[in-house]
Amino acid sequence: MLKPPLMTQTDASADPITVPAGLPSVDRLLQDVRLADLPDRVGRSCVVEAARTVLDEARSRLLAGGRIDADGLADRVVAHVAAAMAPSLRPVLNLTGTVVHTNLGRSALPEAAIEAMTRAARQPVDLEYDLAAGKRGDRGGRLEARIRSLTGAEAATAVNNNAAAVMLVLNTLANRRAVPVSRGELVEIGGSFRLPDIMRRAGARLVEVGATNRTHLKDYEEAMAARPALVLKAHTSNYAVIGFTKAVPEKELAALCRRCGIPFCIDLGSGTLVDLDRFGLPHEPTVQEALASGADLVTFSGDKLLGGPQAGVIAGRADLVARIKKNPMHRAFRLDKLRIAALDATLALYSQPEQLAETVPTLRWLARPLPDIRVVAERVAVHLEPVAPDGWQVEAIDCFSQIGSGALPAEALPSVAVRLTPQAGRPQMGKRAAGRMLRDLAAAFRALPVPAIGRVGEGAFWLDMRCLEKPETLLGQIDSLAWPCPP
Ligand SMILES: *Cc1c(COP(=O)(O)O)cnc(C)c1O
Repeated sequence: MLKPPLMTQTDASADPITVPAGLPSVDRLLQDVRLADLPDRVGRSCVVEAARTVLDEARSRLLAGGRIDADGLADRVVAHVAAAMAPSLRPVLNLTGTVVHTNLGRSALPEAAIEAMTRAARQPVDLEYDLAAGKRGDRGGRLEARIRSLTGAEAATAVNNNAAAVMLVLNTLANRRAVPVSRGELVEIGGSFRLPDIMRRAGARLVEVGATNRTHLKDYEEAMAARPALVLKAHTSNYAVIGFTKAVPEKELAALCRRCGIPFCIDLGSGTLVDLDRFGLPHEPTVQEALASGADLVTFSGDKLLGGPQAGVIAGRADLVARIKKNPMHRAFRLDKLRIAALDATLALYSQPEQLAETVPTLRWLARPLPDIRVVAERVAVHLEPVAPDGWQVEAIDCFSQIGSGALPAEALPSVAVRLTPQAGRPQMGKRAAGRMLRDLAAAFRALPVPAIGRVGEGAFWLDMRCLEKPETLLGQIDSLAWPCPP
């Protein structure tokens, strides 16, 4: 309802142009019955803040010559308070087709990890306390033992993320010293992990080896003249160099490093502990394989293919890990009790590898059988078809998902999407208009109570159903979808 500005507080004989003065005061607005119970529920300062914001907005609008709905001010305050009190992270539906999506929080945690984390959050725990001795104990000691037994490594430690793990390895072992890396492996991962930058910050001097597409053993042999502190091999996780290529096998590089008496370190990136073949997925080098090939240290992420919380694991030679743990940076990058609990519980699931495709959501989504995905896609398509406005073509159609976060970049996973194509059979709609319709439709799905994130491509909007386990969450809110109108 649009009303002329209120003039409640000013003398009616005053200059009628000074409309903002006609707004209620904060106190007056707070007396509205709709706001009566709010201060008790969320605190007075929060409500006052919201009332000020709403009044400021109304004032600006009036000053700009606009009108306001004076009666709706209290409702706007209620909405502002609700928004201010809502948790800052909102659950969304990942229908992008990228399973481990960094922008959407990478791995969803296994139930066991969520329970372990909740337990550790709720009460005091023996995080760094030796119950038998009754004094200070080893922080993360049991987690490290679990990593050792799963990987076969002599020693291990876990830190904030894999970027921190790489930084620690380099800063501890190669500060102010040379580190040869193949030119084909100077990776940049999304979110500003750039190997050359990390190396510089860690104090290591990058010695580029070989060419972008081909690096030979003799290139590394020549680099030994720089008396390097270690040799680093990085898994080229988010791209593939294809065609006329050559990389030196880990075993040969490990043998060379052993001859020269320097550590050989592999940054695996995703780092899986199980052979993905068992889920019908393409092979990705495992941590155990990297260690068996002769790596002295291996680093990998906790929240990529491992399917746990954000973390970085360093596993390998005991003397090197001991030096790393003494670096003050290790203290700065350490894990808190919640993530120690979550990572430990995630790793515990790996002692039953046959169950992983059930217990670890990331692996469950990656291994999800195509017919299961198709059933969901068809159900969603059947639901959308009758409610889609004229001109939208809705169909369940084969597509490809990707693992994401740098694992297996060149490999695609067959999947099924719901594809929405604008103005099918209406060729008069221009490309630009169709593009706008698609962007608007993507925005409408993002504006749902539980935002659904799809992707626009090839003249259509795609909702990949691989990660949608409860279609009801999507279907239950389709009625509130604001379909874009054709121009
Ligand atoms: C992802 C990745 C990193 C960074 O790991 P975070 O856990 O995101 O810090 C480092 N190296 C490689 C090869 C990666 O794939």
